[in-house]
This record gives sequence, structure tokens and C-alpha cells, in this order.
Amino acid sequence: MYKISEIFPAFQGEGSEAGRKTIFIRFYGCPHKCSFCDSRYAWESGEYGSYTLDEVVRAIQALPNIKHITFTGGEPMFYDLTSIMLALKTDGYKFSIETQGAFYDMTTFTLLDNIVLSPKSPIAGAKATNLDNLHKTLDNFGHKSIIKIPIFTNTCLNFAKKLHHDYPNVPLYLGVGNASLDDESAPEQFKQDFNLDGYLSYYRTLMDLVLADAELVDVFVLPQLHVIAYGNERGK
Ligand code: SF4
Repeated sequence: MYKISEIFPAFQGEGSEAGRKTIFIRFYGCPHKCSFCDSRYAWESGEYGSYTLDEVVRAIQALPNIKHITFTGGEPMFYDLTSIMLALKTDGYKFSIETQGAFYDMTTFTLLDNIVLSPKSPIAGAKATNLDNLHKTLDNFGHKSIIKIPIFTNTCLNFAKKLHHDYPNVPLYLGVGNASLDDESAPEQFKQDFNLDGYLSYYRTLMDLVLADAELVDVFVLPQLHVIAYGNERGK
């Protein structure tokens, strides 16, 4: 049985597949409980639907104009993604995952077309982070992975630099942090509710920082496109 927060068609708003038409399957539950999570409803609301494998497949097939699926969460690695992929792969679907990288499963990663590893920096206060598994994934599946890290503070930037230093051939995407943070050390930007001007201003600041940084040479800096288009509206 799959606990699913939502299944919806949209455009990928960030990372290497930004702009791609996809079906998001947002699984319910996450052990990490990051302080800055922008999808808290997917692990603390208690609101989800229970789906059998057949019901998941039928929900996907009910959206026939899209042949790309993004597993997200919550933490999708809690679930049997292999069965979903095997049920749909012969119909020409392609699959991506967004995961923190704390869990490793060789069969799942082999079947996926694209792996977005989004380990959270120490400011996340994340629980159950398993960096050994993250490194195992990068060692074995780095060729189809990217590292994506939301940047809120210098701590996040330094965390990203360390991973970039260790895995220079895995594309590094630095994202514009987007959350209301209850943290004294957080910049003022993150202690307020979302506003687009502030978001874009922080994007410019982040670009300037990275342009001047000698340790971040071959990297990408992107805002979340869905946030620019819709703010923090759910299901976009
Ligand atoms: S790993 Fe992702 S879904 Fe889970 S709490 Fe952190 S930001 Fe939210």
C-alpha cells in the first residue's frame, strides 16, 4: 500500500529538469523533518490517500498527455518504486526522483532515469541523515545524478562546497532558499512570509556570491520556477 499526499501534473520547477512537463507523485512521510521544509503537509498533516499499485498506475494513466514521472515527497525512498516503474516502463515512461539521499536501493536507482539528491545542510536539523548511503549513491550512480542544495546561509554554501569538492563531476545546483525559518541565525529574508521581490533579490545576492567564489566554478544557480509563477501555492 502506498501512502500518497498528492498526484498532479505540473512543470518541474528546479534542478536539471526545470521546465519539464511531469506528473508528480508526492509520497507521504519523511523521517528528516527539516526545519525549512516547504512540503510539511507531506509528513505532518496526516492527510494522504492509500493506493494499491494498480491504483497508482491507473492514476498515472488517467493523465495520458504526460510520459514523465517525478517521485517526490516526503521521502519517496520509503516506498516500492520499482514495482511502479516496472508496471509503466514498457509504455515509454521516464522516471526521476527527488530524495534526500539517506536511503540506498540499487534496483530502484538502476531503473530511474534521473536522480536528484538533495541532502540537507546542518541548518536543516535533519534526522536520520545517512551520508554513507549518499556517498554510495554518488559513487555508483553519479553519472545520472545531480546534487541540489537549497541555500539559506553560509553554512549551506559550505556544505555544498564540500560535496562539490568530493564529487566535482556530479552537477551541483544551488537553489534559492524558500521558507519561513524560525532560526536566529537565518537572514531576515527567511524570517518573513514569502514575497516575490524578496525572493528575487535573494536570487541576485546568491548569484553574486557564487560568481565571486573560487571554489564554485562549474555550478548552477537557479530559483524555483514554480515559485516565481505561483508563489508557494500547493500542487504547482
Ligand atoms: S527531506 Fe525534504 S520532504 Fe523531508 S523534511 Fe526535508 S525538505 Fe521536507
